[in-house]
Amino acid sequence: MAGEWRVRDKEYRGGRIRTGDHSLPKRVRYQAALHPEHADYGRIGRLMSTTDDLAADAARLAEGCDGLGLPLTPEALTRLILLRDLLYEANAVMNLTRVPVSGYVELHCLDSLLICQAVDMRRVRTVMDLGCGAGFPGIPLKIMWPHLRVVLVDSTLKKLRFAGDACGKLGLSGIRTVHGRAEERIGELVYRSDLVVARAVAPMARLVPWLAPYIKPGGRAVAYKGADIEGEMREAGPVIARSSLELEAVVPATLPGSGIVRNLVALRRPVAPTGPGTRARR
Ligand code: SAH
Repeated sequence: MAGEWRVRDKEYRGGRIRTGDHSLPKRVRYQAALHPEHADYGRIGRLMSTTDDLAADAARLAEGCDGLGLPLTPEALTRLILLRDLLYEANAVMNLTRVPVSGYVELHCLDSLLICQAVDMRRVRTVMDLGCGAGFPGIPLKIMWPHLRVVLVDSTLKKLRFAGDACGKLGLSGIRTVHGRAEERIGELVYRSDLVVARAVAPMARLVPWLAPYIKPGGRAVAYKGADIEGEMREAGPVIARSSLELEAVVPATLPGSGIVRNLVALRRPVAPTGPGTRARR
């Protein structure tokens, strides 16, 4: 859609953006550079209309990453902000997230990145995000650690399509979507992932058998959980053992900037199978 838009008190009409136009905000120029085919003034105008707090969100992101000990590159910052704009632009016409835009930095970005407190992401190569919804935590993980190969899986096509489109618009490669239900054993993904992540998908007792088949021997799964997980973990104990996994750690983590407490539940698939009926050979 071409149209007339006001950015920093200057009016723009439809047409292509010049990345060297320094009268435009930096993020708009980044957007144009990252993905030239979407860089028309009409689109940028629509994005700008959702983004009154750009500077504040960028600062909170930078501060939050600092608090997590994560270096935030200009590319990552730009992509996380563009993801916000894409998400809330789409959320206006379909139901993707209930988190308001004011909570995006903490509840979507920093929450996704909290995983660095449980796993050294530099040593992970393949990630599956089970029940990714609109792409969380998978897309922020890919943005922050670009070396990752990520598969986003969800049973809801509408959300998955958004996630796939967003990755394209953000200029990300090495991230793809697979539509399916985890419990229906998605053959091409079995035993493929160094790390399976799941946020807000199901209680542990239900989630563990869903994610178990996708973890490589020697790999891990991390479930993003809230503060109160005692009951859930009690129920999950026998399920974890039956799935030939080990509970590696429950890592409490505090969301920078908000004080909200999370628990990251890390499970591991041993290199040699363990569990009822199997014994290590001597
Ligand atoms: N992880 C995202 C979305 C959470 S909502 C976030 O934290 O924002 C839970 C998502 O899990 C939904 O999109 C739903 O479609 C998906 N889901 C639930 N059960 C599933 C299953 N068995 N297999 C695949 N996806 C599932």
